[in-house]
Amino acid sequence: MLSNQEFDRQHLWHPYTSTIDPLPCFEVESASGAELHLADGRTLIDGMSSWWCVIHGYSHPVLIDAAKEQIQKMSHVMFGGLTHQPAIELGRLLLSILPKNMQHIFYADSGSVATEVAMKMAIQAQDDPRRTDFATIRCGYHGDTWNAMSVCDPVTGMHGAFGKALPIRFFADAPKCGFHDEWDPADFEPMRRLIEQHSESLAAVILEPIVQGAGGMRFYHPQYLRELRDLCDRHGILLIFDEIATGFGRTGRLFACEHAGVEPDIMLLGKSITGGFMTFAAVATSAEVARRISESSAGCMMHGPTFMGNPLACAVAVASTRLLLDSPWQQRIAEIEAIMKERLEVARSYPGVDDVRVLGGIGVIQLKRPVDLARFQKRCVEEGVWIRPFGLNAYIMPPYLAVSDTQLHRLCDVLLMLVREQAEG
Ligand SMILES: *Cc1c(COP(=O)(O)O)cnc(C)c1O
Repeated sequence: MLSNQEFDRQHLWHPYTSTIDPLPCFEVESASGAELHLADGRTLIDGMSSWWCVIHGYSHPVLIDAAKEQIQKMSHVMFGGLTHQPAIELGRLLLSILPKNMQHIFYADSGSVATEVAMKMAIQAQDDPRRTDFATIRCGYHGDTWNAMSVCDPVTGMHGAFGKALPIRFFADAPKCGFHDEWDPADFEPMRRLIEQHSESLAAVILEPIVQGAGGMRFYHPQYLRELRDLCDRHGILLIFDEIATGFGRTGRLFACEHAGVEPDIMLLGKSITGGFMTFAAVATSAEVARRISESSAGCMMHGPTFMGNPLACAVAVASTRLLLDSPWQQRIAEIEAIMKERLEVARSYPGVDDVRVLGGIGVIQLKRPVDLARFQKRCVEEGVWIRPFGLNAYIMPPYLAVSDTQLHRLCDVLLMLVREQAEG
């Protein structure tokens, strides 16, 4: 019989892996707080929040209790023709914290599906049948399903592998003006030109507000979003904010669009909506968009997944969101931001480092050459932390409501050490 490790290697796909020579995977037996416990007895401090989502840390008793309580009643029931308390409670809670114009919520099963739903909404909401195009900015990431792929960065995203199979979208250069830089109006010009050129055929612009995550860990200026809102309004183009990565506090505001004081027409939530407990997502829309969809030829929103509004996920999402709102999250994220700013700045002087940037609970060191992932990963685990770089970026985004100052300093120590090792070759 194959060992666990060998079986995994030979038979299981992991995200973006080859079956021929995959990098080693580390078996996790359990996880609690900001720690992952490996099957070989080692413990790692988690610097990734399992890709943005585990904001309260692992195995949080409040989330476990919420799940247990809901499981006793029902873990699932169809949402067609039926409804339930967890869905209603979550809806009330979300509407109380989302931008004021958000009035209708569609529950989806993952972030990528939420992107599909949002893009379908944007098409269905058009009175003018010529409006079927989408625009976005380069360096974006919106998920791995078909339409989501089509609006991911055309170079680093999925276009290389899928090429002509993907629908054609319009891409403006990514904003260059950083979050903390002085605003440069020239930064918006590529998007302005693009929108003005295609103003009659665009249904919507979709982008990640303030932080471009998986497409490059870039933080851009809030004024960009104000300019964009204004221009979309003038041309009757819908604005979709993908807050799947940024929502629920990660950037220091509950939602990243709050940095700009701009409301979208459609907004996507996912990842940390259940505190990373299980998969779930939501698409919120304005009353206007919902009305236009409902008055369209189809007469309804044409989407309805089997696990829509899953009661278990809704119950956990309610518990997670309450736990967040009842915590001093804003203060804690500000503290984490201050520590990372102070600790990571030194890397700016390292050879091989291009940029260092910190926003809220995200600390990024951008290298000049791609990270050697195999080596980095091995060294990380030897040092007792879990950090998984991609491309040029080595970054940490710890579970902000679980990580201690000591753990955070250790994450910074190891990140700095391994970045140095990479630069030294
Ligand atoms: C992760 C992510 C998605 C996709 O979510 P999945 O749950 O992985 O399908 C979409 N948009 C953004 C901004 C993301 O970070």
